Amino acid sequence: MSLPTENLALAVRQAVAEGLLGEEHPVAGFVDVQGVRGTVAALHEAFAQVPDVLHAFAAKACPLVPVLRLLADAGMGCEVASPGELRLALDAGFAPARIVLDSPAKTRQEIREALALGVALNADNLAELDRIDALRPADCASVIGLRVNPQVGGGSIGAMSTATAHSKFGVALRDPGMRARVVEAFARRPWLTRLHAHVGSQGCPLPLIAEGLTAVHRLAEEIDAHVGHRQITSLDLGGGLPVNFADDMVTPTYAEYVAALTAVEPALLDGRYQVVTEFGRSLIAKNGFTAARVEYVKDAGGRRVALTHAGGQVATRTVFMPDAWPLRVTAYGPDGAPKDTPLLPQDVAGPLCFAGDVVAHERPLPELAEGDLVVLHDTGGYYFSAHWSYNSLPRPAVYGCLVRDGRVAFTTIRSAQTVREISAESGLAHADALLTGRATPSLR
Ligand SMILES: *Cc1c(COP(=O)(O)O)cnc(C)c1O
Repeated sequence: MSLPTENLALAVRQAVAEGLLGEEHPVAGFVDVQGVRGTVAALHEAFAQVPDVLHAFAAKACPLVPVLRLLADAGMGCEVASPGELRLALDAGFAPARIVLDSPAKTRQEIREALALGVALNADNLAELDRIDALRPADCASVIGLRVNPQVGGGSIGAMSTATAHSKFGVALRDPGMRARVVEAFARRPWLTRLHAHVGSQGCPLPLIAEGLTAVHRLAEEIDAHVGHRQITSLDLGGGLPVNFADDMVTPTYAEYVAALTAVEPALLDGRYQVVTEFGRSLIAKNGFTAARVEYVKDAGGRRVALTHAGGQVATRTVFMPDAWPLRVTAYGPDGAPKDTPLLPQDVAGPLCFAGDVVAHERPLPELAEGDLVVLHDTGGYYFSAHWSYNSLPRPAVYGCLVRDGRVAFTTIRSAQTVREISAESGLAHADALLTGRATPSLR
């Protein structure tokens, strides 16, 4: 549900009027609050038939506390994969029982803490289960599961495909002897009650996801048959619903996802298992955008290049893999009014000292000029929230926007990073550390 075009134009124009965008603040991220609520509602609606379901937002898609708190308020849980994400989820107000910890490389200390809090946890591999054997307190409240890799193959983006034969994630279910070892691992551990898979992500078609999750469901049935009772009580289906970056259409929808699953494995969502989902990108991508100022335009080799303030620091995947992660770009004048002059192919480049720092190549756009603004659409997930600190560029401010009676109300979600903060996180407190004479004893 991305911001309707007229509301987007309203938001850009008003952000300029309020000084959130312009010469002093040349780049910012925006989150559409009603859009997020609408997408969460669509997710709940699609799974309405499943009596017991926990929709856990994958925190890495937008690790900003106010966004997580909005999602908690809208009835979501939270999937986390590091101590930092766990901290954010707790600070956002998610109850531990509604948090799922999935990190692939949990330390003993992280496991201990999660179990003490009562956070649900999915072990990535059999060795991790051995650790949990030793660390699990007698009164453990955490739901504990095992992540499996159904090895159904990849989608169109290799780096985003989690269910390939050689994927680093989960227990490789089709490897010789592995299925039996998994069944045995459950039989030996009555407290192991959840199976988890995340067959994703962007670029993976629905039938592939459905095939992977069917394998998980069949494995659950096999484990229960082997132990002779209902041991598996929940299935964690992961996330990975792809997002359409080409236009404003939401496709595929959550309803289509549910239909694709039930078409191939009707019993998967029939209510006998509690269901957990872990969607990230599909909940947030189309509910955010990035706006940046054009600082200069120039011609190079017969091509027009616009140097803007949105490059690899906020669109890292796009600049490194432009074909896999294309972004729509639209042009606005310095006052935030949409530009509708004739189209001219232009490179939209960023501010980094790195030649690949181009977010759109030869893109037909109204001719850009100094002071204009460009909007990068659908960047609510994994873009402005997953900053790359190359060239020590500051993390830009992020604002929530709420359209009310034809006006946009902005609220700060994250302040822009200051250059002092950049220095502080770059070792300022240890500035003398390497000078001989003043160095720590070990360097003298
Ligand atoms: C990244 C991730 C997700 C979310 O994936 P999306 O493609 O953003 O929906 C869910 N579960 C796990 C384990 C992940 O690593």
